[in-house]
Amino acid sequence: MYDVIVVGARVAGSSTAMLLARKGLRVLLVDRATFPSDTLSTHQVQLPGVVRLARWGLLERVIASGAPPARRVRFDPGPLVLEGSFAAFDGIDALYSPRRTVLDTILIDAAREAGAEVREGFVVDELVLEDGRVAGIRGAEKGGATVTESARVVVGADGKRSMVARAVGAPTYRELPVLSMGFYTYWEGVDLAGGEMYARPRRMVGAWPTNDGLVMTYVAWPVEEFAAFRADVERNFLETLDAAGDLGERVRAGRRAERFRGSPDLPNVFRVPHGPGWVLAGDAGLTMDPVTGQGIGHAFRDAELIADALAAGLGGSRPLDEALEEYRRARDEETVPMYEFTTEIASFRPPAVEQQVLLEAIADRPSEVSRFFGVLTGSVPMREYFSSRNVFRLIGLRGMAKVMKGRRRARSAA
Ligand SMILES: Cc1cc2nc3c(=O)[nH]c(=O)nc-3n(C[C@H](O)[C@H](O)[C@H](O)COP(=O)(O)OP(=O)(O)OC[C@H]3O[C@@H](n4cnc5c(N)ncnc54)[C@H](O)[C@@H]3O)c2cc1C
Repeated sequence: MYDVIVVGARVAGSSTAMLLARKGLRVLLVDRATFPSDTLSTHQVQLPGVVRLARWGLLERVIASGAPPARRVRFDPGPLVLEGSFAAFDGIDALYSPRRTVLDTILIDAAREAGAEVREGFVVDELVLEDGRVAGIRGAEKGGATVTESARVVVGADGKRSMVARAVGAPTYRELPVLSMGFYTYWEGVDLAGGEMYARPRRMVGAWPTNDGLVMTYVAWPVEEFAAFRADVERNFLETLDAAGDLGERVRAGRRAERFRGSPDLPNVFRVPHGPGWVLAGDAGLTMDPVTGQGIGHAFRDAELIADALAAGLGGSRPLDEALEEYRRARDEETVPMYEFTTEIASFRPPAVEQQVLLEAIADRPSEVSRFFGVLTGSVPMREYFSSRNVFRLIGLRGMAKVMKGRRRARSAA
């Protein structure tokens, strides 16, 4: 009998298993994949995620893998361009983009080192239920016999199409339709000083440096244009980069190193993340459009919250349900503003006049640009930044007048 079985061994599952094992719990971690293993995901780890990697003693391994720091950022929503650096957050001033083959392997190794039992190539087919509670898993290693394993709690860290969530019927909320589709690939020989993000009408572009001297470029279109995009992926991808400053030119001066990957399966949904004998972590419990690159950091945050809740609940210092409800509350409170921001961006609506006025007001103020980048990376609380008081501080009376004028113009155009 294990204290906890974790299904899924990537950013949510391995981190949760590692933290639980470090707290002395008996943990089994399983995944159908064998590592190193890639997954359909780009890999910007935002500043709060990097802070957690450092806290867990794993940032050195990420750096040693050759994943370069991105300290400089260009944000170009057109016609304005903001350039600057991140303000340090808990001593971290760079974002890293390790390949998932690298990051997920570092994490599963760390879980094993912490004392978790790890089974790779193990597929969970169903949950075991006893007296209305989840009490374990049934599954098999590829080609092996079916086995049953018991635990006091099963954590579903099995991704956005979570089998665990489906099996327990976890209720959903704040669900929105799929908004964007995303494609990405990797290039050699591309000149890139840091991270770059571009917003164009009905298009978003990102470019970040990653392992092996490669540059990852990401292109997002509205999901309703997926068929048109797929009709000629290479041409559509490159034409989108061509609209992003001189990025297309720089990419064409290099060489594409890998195939195009992408998906229109980018759901936006919260799930109730706990119930009798079960917990959901990472995308299994909350998934959002990847256009703002928050999923990995959110998975790390969930891992810490869940590990604390389970250690307290299973250790008897707090009722388990109460501790897990605290996880849900903290998760939702922190995520809702970013979820709203992300789904707004992924809906490709033209920018509001307020946004244009705000960006104009800060463009030549380096410390304010750093703060704005802090909002994008999740180190500056969004609610605080976009509060009327702070916006007024930034745009002043002249900015307010521009906003009013813009609103009047929009109303009369409508
Ligand atoms: C195109 C794209 C780009 C993205 N870019 C970024 C980005 O730049 N930055 C960022 O932070 N996030 C990004 N994301 C989001 C990020 O990929 C996810 O938030 C993150 O991978 C979620 O991690 P997870 O551990 O919860 O789940 P996953 O990474 O989905 O891992 C789930 C694991 O569970 C295993 N599993 C599932 N079912 C079973 C089963 N029945 N038995 C055994 N094992 C099972 C799977 O094999 C898998 O290994 C992107 C996503 C997409 C689609």
